[in-house]
Amino acid sequence: MKKIEHIGIAVKDFSASNGLFYKLLGEEPYKTEIVESEKVSTSFFRIGETKIELLEAMDEDSPVAKFLEKHGEGIHHIAFEVEDILTEMDRLKKEGFQLLSDIPKPGADNKLVCFVHPKSANGILIELTQEIK
Ligand code: ZN
Repeated sequence: MKKIEHIGIAVKDFSASNGLFYKLLGEEPYKTEIVESEKVSTSFFRIGETKIELLEAMDEDSPVAKFLEKHGEGIHHIAFEVEDILTEMDRLKKEGFQLLSDIPKPGADNKLVCFVHPKSANGILIELTQEIK
């Protein structure tokens, strides 16, 4: 693992939360993007070496909609940048972590991603993320 790449925050009202984080961080999001595979709208704020990702569900089947139902708004996941996602997935599997997919998926912000089930990580949804070169 190289660093915390971003922290994902589940929000109910995307435009209100973009406004709130603009006020908080003093900067506009540098991109907004729809991730079809997760049925979410996302926006990214750069904050030094790392980023904040806001996530809004696009429909009620979205994993983010289910998260909001269960927990309300708040920290949804922590994303770690890795050099080689397949190697890291293999290592974590051997360590007993439960991965949510067998192969990496295209995520937001030009990344390959894989999630680790919160049940196997102290209640925290972990995202592995590798830049697509
Ligand atoms: Zn993320």
